[in-house]
Amino acid sequence: MDPNRLAVRMFSDTGNIRKSALPASAPPIIVWFREDLRLSDNPALHAAVRQERPIVCLYIHMNGENAGRPLGGASQWWLDKSLKAFSRDIEQLGGQLTVQAGDGSACLDRVIDETGADTVYWNRRYAAAERDADAEIKAHLKDRGIDAESFNARLLVEPWVLKTGSGGFYKVFTPFWKALRACYEAPAALPRPKSLTGPAPETLRIDDLGLHPEKPDWSTGFDAIWSPGETGALNRLNAFLDGPVEAYPEERDHPGKEDGTSGLSPHLRFGEIGPAQIWRTVTSAMEAGRISEDGGWKFLSEIVWREFSYVLLYYRPDLAEANYNSDFDHMPWRTDEPALKAWQTGQTGYPIVDAGMRQLWETGWMHNRVRMIVASFLTKHLLLNWQNGEAWFWDTLVDADPASNPASWQWTAGSGADAAPYFRVFNPITQGQKFDADGAYVRRWCPEIAGLPDKHLHSPWTADEQTLSRAGITLGEDYPCPLVDHKSARERALEAYETLKSQRTNA
Ligand SMILES: Cc1cc2nc3c(=O)[nH]c(=O)nc-3n(C[C@H](O)[C@H](O)[C@H](O)COP(=O)(O)OP(=O)(O)OC[C@H]3O[C@@H](n4cnc5c(N)ncnc54)[C@H](O)[C@@H]3O)c2cc1C
Repeated sequence: MDPNRLAVRMFSDTGNIRKSALPASAPPIIVWFREDLRLSDNPALHAAVRQERPIVCLYIHMNGENAGRPLGGASQWWLDKSLKAFSRDIEQLGGQLTVQAGDGSACLDRVIDETGADTVYWNRRYAAAERDADAEIKAHLKDRGIDAESFNARLLVEPWVLKTGSGGFYKVFTPFWKALRACYEAPAALPRPKSLTGPAPETLRIDDLGLHPEKPDWSTGFDAIWSPGETGALNRLNAFLDGPVEAYPEERDHPGKEDGTSGLSPHLRFGEIGPAQIWRTVTSAMEAGRISEDGGWKFLSEIVWREFSYVLLYYRPDLAEANYNSDFDHMPWRTDEPALKAWQTGQTGYPIVDAGMRQLWETGWMHNRVRMIVASFLTKHLLLNWQNGEAWFWDTLVDADPASNPASWQWTAGSGADAAPYFRVFNPITQGQKFDADGAYVRRWCPEIAGLPDKHLHSPWTADEQTLSRAGITLGEDYPCPLVDHKSARERALEAYETLKSQRTNA
C-alpha cells in the first residue's frame, strides 16, 4: 500500500472523520491483541506506543487448524463483552479495534496489505497449539520482511524461567511459590496510552463473531454479576483490597460469603488485568500498611497457583487430554450418562454438589472450595473420568483457562502433579457442614430445600418424614434422593484405586 495513504480517514464512535496527526511516511505497527484485552500495563502495546508511529489495534478471531482449543459457550459470552468494552476504550483514545476472523496469517497479511504496516507486536500465549501457531506466523512474517516481536503480559514469570536445583521444572507448588516469592519483583507499571491513532482498516463488527448465545440465551444470570473489561477488572481488584482481602485467609473457603474471594479469574483469563499489576498493587498496599501481610500474601500465593498451572501446561502440553501421572491410564473409570447428566444439572441429591453445579450454570463461575467438592464427587463418588468434568467446566465457566482448568481437575482427581492423594475422598456432607455451616450457599442455589433445618440441610435424606413435610419436601419429587450412597461410593473409589496400585506393583 502507498504509505502516503496513511493519512487515512479514521472513524470515531460518533462517526466524525479525522486526519491522522502522525507523519504520513511512518509505517504503522500492528498490535495483535489476543488474551491481553487491556490498555494499561500491556507490554506489546507499550512497545508500539513508544515508537510514536501509527498503530493498528487488531483482534483476530482465529479458526481453522491452528486456532487452538475452541472457547466454550460461557467464555464466548465473556469474550463478546470484553471485546466490546475494549473497543470502546480504544475509540475513546481516537483509535479503532479492527476485528478479523479466520486464519491468523491470512488475516495479518490482509491488514498489512491494507495499511502498509511493517511491524507486528503481540503478547505471548502458552498452550501448545497457540505456541505453534505463533511460531508459524512469526516465521511467515519474517519471510515477508515484516518485523515480529512478542512480549510477556500474562504471567509473573514465564514457565521456562524458574528451575529447580537440578535444572528441571517445578512439579510441586510450595517450593515453586517460595522460589518465585524470593526472586520476583514486579517491573515498573506501563502507562495507558494517551491516544491511539493510525489507519482504520476494514473491520468486522464484534456482533458478526456470533459470540453471544442465542436460541436459547442462557446467559441472563451473568449480567447481574459481571462487568467484563479493564474497568470492571480494576474495580474488582480495588473493591477486594478495600476490605475483603483482610478476611481472605479464613473466608476464602466459605462459598456463602459473597465477597470472600476476589472474583478476578475471568478478568485474568482474558488479560483485562495482568498478574504483575495485581502483584504491584498488593505489595504496595502491604508496604504502605493499607492491607495486612496475612491477607496480601495469601492472596498472592493463590495468584501463583495460576502461574504453577502454566508451568505444568508448558511442560505437559497434553494436560487437558492425558493423565499427568500415567498410572491413571489404568483407572477403571465407569461410563454412566445418567449420572453425568445428574452431576451437570445439579440433581445428585447432595446439596453442596448441586448448589455448586447450579451456581456454575447460572453465573458461569463456581467458588473454589465447591469446585474441589464437585470434582471429587465426579471422579470418586461417581468414578467418572476427570476429563468429563474438565470438558463441562471448559464449556460453562467464564474463567475456563487452558492451564488452571486441566491442572486443577487432575489435582483433584489425583492424577496430576502435586495432586491431592486419590484416597482423600471429599465427604460432601461434612464439607457442606464445615464450609456452609449456616446453609446460606445451599439455600440460595437449592431453594427447594431451604426450609430444612441446618442439621439436615446437607443430608436431606437423614430428616424424618415430619421434618421433611414441615419443610414442604417430598424426597425424590421436590429434590432428588442421593444418587449414590456416600459410604459405598467411597469404598468403590478406594477399591478402584487399589487396582491401580496393583498394576504398578506388577509392572
Ligand atoms: C476443578 C477445578 C477447576 C478449576 N478451573 C479453573 C479455571 O478454569 N480457571 C481458573 O482461573 N481457575 C480455575 N480453578 C481454580 C479456582 O477455583 C479459581 O481460580 C477461583 O475459584 C477463581 O475465583 P476468584 O478469582 O474469586 O479466586 P481468588 O481466590 O480471589 O484468587 C485470585 C486468583 O488466583 C488464581 N487462583 C486462585 N486459586 C487458584 C487455583 N487453585 N488454581 C489456579 N489459579 C488459582 C485465579 O486466577 C484467581 O482469580 C479451578 C479449580 C478447580 C478445583
